Amino acid sequence: MICLGIESSANDFSVGIVDSNGHVLSLVTSSYIPPKGGIHPREAARHHAQSAPTILRRALEEASISIKEVDVIAFTQGPGLGPALRTGATVARTLAAYFNKPLVGVNHCVAHVEIGCLLLNMKNPLTVYVSGGNSLITRFEEGFFRVYGETLDIALGNLLDSFAQRAGLPFPGGPAVERLAKRSQRYIELPYTVKGMDLSFSGLLTHALRLLKQGVPIEDVCYSLQETAFAMVCEVAERALAHTRSDELMLTGGVAANQRLQEMLAAVAKEHGARFGVVDRRFAVDNGAMIAWTGLLAYQSGAVTPIRDSLVKPRWRIDQVPIPWRKHA
Ligand code: AMP
Ligand code: MG
Repeated sequence: MICLGIESSANDFSVGIVDSNGHVLSLVTSSYIPPKGGIHPREAARHHAQSAPTILRRALEEASISIKEVDVIAFTQGPGLGPALRTGATVARTLAAYFNKPLVGVNHCVAHVEIGCLLLNMKNPLTVYVSGGNSLITRFEEGFFRVYGETLDIALGNLLDSFAQRAGLPFPGGPAVERLAKRSQRYIELPYTVKGMDLSFSGLLTHALRLLKQGVPIEDVCYSLQETAFAMVCEVAERALAHTRSDELMLTGGVAANQRLQEMLAAVAKEHGARFGVVDRRFAVDNGAMIAWTGLLAYQSGAVTPIRDSLVKPRWRIDQVPIPWRKHA
């Protein structure tokens, strides 16, 4: 069985084609890079609409199949930016209706976990998912993914991107901040905000920008920003790991590319005797293959999304999604 997945929740328009053996037949992405500032939802949507025909064609060509050979069409139904999601959903509905294929709406966060499990050969990891738009620590427990901790304001990637933008560094900010942080070892205290099991990054952003204005070298600010934010993530991950006694810890999302974060979480996993895995960059960032794979899992366990139920859900939480293909923890 073959599934074509469309991801369009933020700045990437991506199509992945996956078969039921878990082979990724193709993955093609076009990224919208904002000329300046953050992602404008309508500009992202415009980019997605313009890219869709080419990206679809290339994904089919790369997989060496025709659309007729596709059994299921999956798309990101949420969470994400409304206009961006709607563009991908429209393309998916059109394909499903015109070629008479079943349609499956997929939760973006669930898809990040499922593709990670496939690639890292993990069964039920505690997952740290940190990206431009999401930051959560989750694990499947009794029918649903449970959220053990999450950000109360901005996502970890958004913290790095916003800081970088205001510091005059290129977009996306994460790699730029990481590069500068490697040049410093001088830690300057910044607000460390863990509330219960949840995280807050906005105070950190304000203070880091203040340090910069006060003339603190940018390397030192980047270093301190990373150390503080990542330690917060590690604290919550560690407590969730101790609580769940999970023997697997997975790191995914765009920020997973950060070597310092990898190193810190690897130490947490080691301490608790858990196997640590970082999802390969190509599949850790937003991608259509994860949507295709999760769509396949859902379809094979009987889930379909009729067109009338296919409206996008920009605030669809991971802990609200039924997961019929995972029996029990
Ligand atoms: P995504 O939202 O999954 O598409 O990932 C994009 C996010 O990952 C952006 O916020 C980037 O700044 C962030 N990112 C990418 N590379 C790195 C890195 N090396 N270190 C930290 N953040 C990164
Ligand atoms: Mg993205």
